[in-house]
Amino acid sequence: MKSGKLLQHKSNQYEAKAVILALGSERKKLEIPGEKGFSGRGVSYCATCDGNFFRNRHVAVIGGGSTAVGDTAALSEICRHVSLVYHGAHLSAICSLRKQTLERQNVSVLYHQEICRMLGTDEVERIRVKDSETGAENDIRVDGVFIDIGMNPSTKLIPKELLLPDGYVGADRNGTTKIPGAFVAGDLRKKQLYQIMTAMSDGANAAYSAQLYLEENLLSSITTNYEQ
Ligand SMILES: Cc1cc2nc3c(=O)[nH]c(=O)nc-3n(C[C@H](O)[C@H](O)[C@H](O)COP(=O)(O)OP(=O)(O)OC[C@H]3O[C@@H](n4cnc5c(N)ncnc54)[C@H](O)[C@@H]3O)c2cc1C
Repeated sequence: MKSGKLLQHKSNQYEAKAVILALGSERKKLEIPGEKGFSGRGVSYCATCDGNFFRNRHVAVIGGGSTAVGDTAALSEICRHVSLVYHGAHLSAICSLRKQTLERQNVSVLYHQEICRMLGTDEVERIRVKDSETGAENDIRVDGVFIDIGMNPSTKLIPKELLLPDGYVGADRNGTTKIPGAFVAGDLRKKQLYQIMTAMSDGANAAYSAQLYLEENLLSSITTNYEQ
């Protein structure tokens, strides 16, 4: 298609002069027993969204990157205690974040601990962790579990040239990608904060960018036709 976009559906093809990619992303799952059953019943993938449900409670954060450590810091402001459960020996979060979080009185880091099961009746009550060095298993009482082991942007349909090394689509704040006429919005776009508000803002910006792109292209084709 000359300067247009062809979208292939299972049963149809759609032609468009511009396209906004908004396929979102999924939180990575631990895939351990209890995770699915307790999801929304003590198990959360978003501290910004659900942290306040655990005010003055004891929560575990699973992970060791900047998101996990940042969430640990944020949760430590409202929760009684935060246990950061990490399977390795060295947290991969940026140094300044690590330092300011680990200094907090109500934060403890459990190194070399692999979470292997979530237990409880109606809601999660305990997590079972296994020491990766000794193999010893231990149950920890918790009121909530935040899983922060990364996100998987939905990129199956996205041209490789638009992807950044971490799998997100690279674009400016207006959603403009390096393919003319292809825009991106929401959790698929590389950015700082993945929330409904930022996704909506992205959507508005991408739609406006697409409008400007169409107007520009339409105008130039009208001008070209007129000149001929
Ligand atoms: C558990 C959880 C709780 C959250 N809670 C909050 C909260 O309380 N407050 C808040 O602000 N944010 C919250 N967020 C974040 C918020 O949901 C996202 O930032 C926002 O939904 C991103 O919008 P989006 O349109 O980019 O992606 P999504 O909302 O994920 O939408 C993407 C859509 O694209 C569809 N799709 C994917 N692939 C294809 C395809 N090949 N063809 C057609 N369609 C496709 C998907 O099915 C989906 O419907 C939460 C996220 C999670 C995971």
